[in-house]
This record gives sequence, C-alpha cells and structure tokens, in this order.
Amino acid sequence: MKTTIYSQPKLPYAPDALAPAISQETVDFHYGKHEKAYIDNLNKLIEGTDYEDMALEDIIKSSEGPLFNNASQAWNHIFYFFSFSPDGGGEPEGALRDAIDRDFGSFENFKKEFEEAGVKLFGSGWVWLSADQSGKLCITQAQNAGNPLTDGLTPLLTFDVWEHAYYLDYQNRRADALHKLWDIVDWDVVSGRYDV
Ligand code: MN
Repeated sequence: MKTTIYSQPKLPYAPDALAPAISQETVDFHYGKHEKAYIDNLNKLIEGTDYEDMALEDIIKSSEGPLFNNASQAWNHIFYFFSFSPDGGGEPEGALRDAIDRDFGSFENFKKEFEEAGVKLFGSGWVWLSADQSGKLCITQAQNAGNPLTDGLTPLLTFDVWEHAYYLDYQNRRADALHKLWDIVDWDVVSGRYDV
C-alpha cells in the first residue's frame, strides 16, 4: 500500500518577497518548476518499492543514482528556500554565533570562506554549513545533488550554486549571486537547526 506521496510545501513568503537578492522569476522557475520536477520524479521512482515507506532523509542516506539525485534535490531545495526570509539578513546570535566565532574566527570570516567555497565549486552543486555530532562546524562543497546527511553531518545552511539558481538574475556572476544571499538568510531558522 502506498503511504507516501511527496508534495511541495508552500513557501512562507510571497514569490516576489526575496527580491532583489532572488527575483520572483527565479523563485517561480527554481522552486515552481525545477523543485517540482525533482519531487515528481521522486514520487515516480519510489512507487512500488521499499522506499515508499521510508523517511526522505533515510532515502537520501540509502540510495544512489537517479533516486538519490531526485530525493536529495527535493530535500535540498526545500531546505534552501526555507532558509530565507524577506526580513532576513543581519547576524546570528546565541549558540550558533558562538560556534561560528569559535570555528571560523569571526562571522565575517565565515561568510568569506562560505562564499569562496561556493564560487570555487566546479560545475553544479551546493555549499554547506554543517555541524558534526560534537557541534563543531564545517563548510563543505557537494557536487550535483550532494548532501552532508550522507556523511553523518547535520546540515545548517546551504547555498545552491547550480546555474539555474542564479542565471536569470546574475547570468555568469555566481560570486555576486552568493554574496547577495546574506541579505535574506533567516538566522532564526538556521540557528534553530543547530541543536547542541
Ligand atoms: Mn537548484
């Protein structure tokens, strides 16, 4: 019996609310078309298989090939878009801020290292801020659909560096696209993922 059909959660802001960091056109294509395709493919690929009753995170950790790619992309995009708010920006506080200062020296240096990791990632992928089981933070690059869950890490923040994430607004200027995302990061959401 089929128990799971994945659907797209509605974004907690209007499609034009993240502009100018991310335009309405990009939100409409990126979340409305690209992300929808990953979720549709995920539903087709798990139908009639043992993956039907598995949590999405467990599918990501135990699959490969097209199923991994679509499951992870489905998860990554929800995580990415729900990290933003039209009231975002500023700086994190509390335990996450303390950990950033401890592990990267300063918030400014963390942002610099995170942006550089995204700019230098060759081809399509994601740059991630994650925590290990001891709470230590790390920045990692992932090709294509990669996700730190497969390395036993807890993802906290990601920037999508696939061209589809920025090309409509920034064309080839990936560095500018990543830099502008700091204006909309919802640090309350990101800090809430850092459970120490
Ligand atoms: Mn994307």
